[in-house]
Parts: sequence; structure tokens; C-alpha cells
Amino acid sequence: MNTGYIHSTETFGSVDGPGVRFIIFMQGCAMRCRYCHNADTWKLKAGKAMTADELLDKAERYRSYWGEDGGITVSGGEPLLQLDFVTELFKKAKKRGINTCLDTAGQPFARGEPFFSKFNELLKYTDLLLVDIKHIDDNEHRALTGHGNQNILDMLRFLSDIKKPVWIRHVLVPGITDNDEYLRRTRGFIDSLQNVERVEILPYHSLGAYKWAALGLDYTLENTQPPTADRVKNAEMILNNKE
Ligand code: SF4
Repeated sequence: MNTGYIHSTETFGSVDGPGVRFIIFMQGCAMRCRYCHNADTWKLKAGKAMTADELLDKAERYRSYWGEDGGITVSGGEPLLQLDFVTELFKKAKKRGINTCLDTAGQPFARGEPFFSKFNELLKYTDLLLVDIKHIDDNEHRALTGHGNQNILDMLRFLSDIKKPVWIRHVLVPGITDNDEYLRRTRGFIDSLQNVERVEILPYHSLGAYKWAALGLDYTLENTQPPTADRVKNAEMILNNKE
């Protein structure tokens, strides 16, 4: 039996996948997105250690609220850093008839072993993936997150090849991702995929900046404002091919 490091749970999540969902935020992330609002999840071995059954028992207390579409979403942090645990959790969830959704930024993805076989095993029990594209440009992605995007885009191509349903999410940050050329390149990439059910724009906000301060870290976007409603609409039009 595996133990997961859990940052927190949210009982009635409505923005991380279909319907009403029980959200599990996992510890651990190797990326350092400049806008991260969960910087307190970065450390892997922190939070609360829980088993899959403990989490599912807790989640099922709210099952009557889930309706037809709801279920559980595992988010983070980066859940793929606790691959064995999430696989056990989702396998047990499917046995209980629970819809499973994985919210990932894809950074740990690799076609090498042992990751690739384990990832494929996890996908057997995953109904939907929410995948963040942080930046379509590799250099800009590095500047924004500390990592390149090649393996992340490769993960999306792989998920397309196996026809696994995906929602793409993209944080719109003035001066960084809110740029028509980048947005069109992102759309071009999404157009090359066969499995995308939905594309969502998440407007940048700085509500997690206080966590950086609490961790003694420098929040470098403190002068960046949220995008205007017009720019959010513009990005939605571009990414959804409605220009
Ligand atoms: S991938 Fe998510 S948790 Fe990790 S640094 Fe980026 S925003 Fe934060």
C-alpha cells in the first residue's frame, strides 16, 4: 500500500473538471512558475500522509453532491511526482465507480522507463486529464517555469495518439502569455491534437503571492495586473478558433 503526501482537499470543487468534484491537492512540484498560487505545495515530503482508502472514504461523504458528471480530481503541486500513489488511488476509485480526473502540468512526463509504463497504467484508471500549457514557446516556458516544454507537448501528442480525453488550460498573464502571436501558436498546436474536448483560459491573479512571502521567496510578478476582460475574451476567441 502506498502513502500519498497531501497538501489539502477541497470539498465542492467546481472549476477543476466536470460537475461538482472532490479535489485532492498533492504535495510536490519541480516547476517554479512565476505566478504559482500554490508555492506551499512545492516540497514533496510535506503535508499530510494519507492512504488511498482514507482519501476515498473522505471523498465519498460528498458523493450525493456529485451528480452524473462529478467525482474526484487530483491536482497539486504536480500529481505525476506521486505516480504510484495516484495510480492506486484511481484504481480504487474506479472500483468504487468514481469518475477520475488528473490535473497536471506534465513536467515529469518521459517516454523512458520506468515512467512511461507507470504512466500508461495510471491512464487505465483516468477518465479525463486537465493539462496546463504554461507557454507554447520553449524559451519563454523556461523563463516562466524553470523547465522546457518539449516533453510536455510530447505528452499531449501521446495522449492524442491514444485518444485520451483532455481539457487544455492556459493561464493568461499580461506581458508573458497574453500575446496574440503566442496564443495563435498555442492554437496551432491544439489544432494538431485529436482529443481536446475543451480549452479554458485562466486569467492571471496574484492571490497566492502571500505564500511566496511566507516562504521567504521573491514574487517577481508583483507589478503584473490581471488581464482585462477584453483580453481574456480575445484569448478565448483565439484558442477556440473563433477569431
Ligand atoms: S506547475 Fe502548478 S504547482 Fe507547479 S509551480 Fe507551476 S503553477 Fe505551481
